[in-house]
Amino acid sequence: MNSGSGRSSSRPIRQRPGAFALGHFFGIPVYVDLSWLVIFALITMTISAQFAEDHPEWASNERWFAGLVTSAVFFLCVLLHEIGHSLVARFFGIPVNSITLFIFGGVAQIQREPEKPLHEFLIAVAGPLTSLMLSVLFFALAGAEAIESLQASAAEDAAGNLPMFNAICLWLTTINLMLAIFNLIPGFPLDGGRVLRSLIWALSGKFEMATRVAAGFGFFVAYFFIALGIYIAFFENMLVNGLWTAFIGWFLLMAARSSVVQLASRRALAGHRVLDILEPIPYRVSPAMSVQALVDGPILQHGHTLFVVEDDGVLKGIVSLSDVKTTPREEWPVTPLQRIMTPAAELVVVEPHESLQTVKETMEERGLAQMPVVEGDRVLGLVTRDGLLRVLHNEMEFGGR
Ligand SMILES: [Zn+2]
Repeated sequence: MNSGSGRSSSRPIRQRPGAFALGHFFGIPVYVDLSWLVIFALITMTISAQFAEDHPEWASNERWFAGLVTSAVFFLCVLLHEIGHSLVARFFGIPVNSITLFIFGGVAQIQREPEKPLHEFLIAVAGPLTSLMLSVLFFALAGAEAIESLQASAAEDAAGNLPMFNAICLWLTTINLMLAIFNLIPGFPLDGGRVLRSLIWALSGKFEMATRVAAGFGFFVAYFFIALGIYIAFFENMLVNGLWTAFIGWFLLMAARSSVVQLASRRALAGHRVLDILEPIPYRVSPAMSVQALVDGPILQHGHTLFVVEDDGVLKGIVSLSDVKTTPREEWPVTPLQRIMTPAAELVVVEPHESLQTVKETMEERGLAQMPVVEGDRVLGLVTRDGLLRVLHNEMEFGGR
């Protein structure tokens, strides 16, 4: 089914629009956003071009090979950076929903905010620390030859005859170091911004104030990058570099803005429970009912699109319109609903006392528009995205706290 449910128990990887699933790492589903392919191609080209300059002795296919290998290993390094954050988060009992790699790096989606400033601090520094350690590792792998070649290149403007393995390691040293430094810029939601927030939070004891200050720094950093990009593009005449810098600034601006919106919505939803927006079940049906009977009755005559399958008041599953549509028409009369329903064990359900913030996060994470509200094995009703948005809207418009 497309909207009413997702699986909860074994968390198999789900497809997402604009991204492909890579698999599980440490039990965390990893996605690659299609925008990553752009950065992958770009890095490969940049590195190959740089290698062409530094190592004119390499054949063109050698250069491309080195570029591709470096890109692929860098990709792994970005993933390890996110896994660094994730494992520390998990150590503090915060589940990690997924890791997504996209054009500017990666995002580890942790399920909730840390409870203590120290936790936030350690989760935030774990990423850059991982990158720093990788940088040191690759520096060691690059070896003494790389240092000699660096000295030589400083003197004569040529990288010398560094073997390919060492040259690649030298690149990965630099790029991981840059990744660590960039992420430590103190603008929220970069890692450095989270470090800043944890410090202000620890000193003031005020989480919201700390977030607002860190986001303020985030806006400042974002505008700085945009201005710097424009300067580089038009006054230094390096159009591509300038555009990239401005683009990074624009991305940081969007990220800072969404973190402010997220804070506002968190505040609006605080104190609201599932019961506040509980909607009655549109239609209850029995597992033995045929698809044909469902279509003839509830669907065609009453226009319902979502059905709770119950046996003696016990939840068995949910049937949506798309489940019906994917069943061949000639099988409708002989197919009972229990064969096409999403069974109860696979449904993502909520309990009546759960907070709406949790509901919102689960819906966003799983791409759901509605979830059944269950107490024991009884279905009380549904929560829908519309109901959630109504609360959000009312609180933001009239809450005025
Ligand atoms: Zn990070």
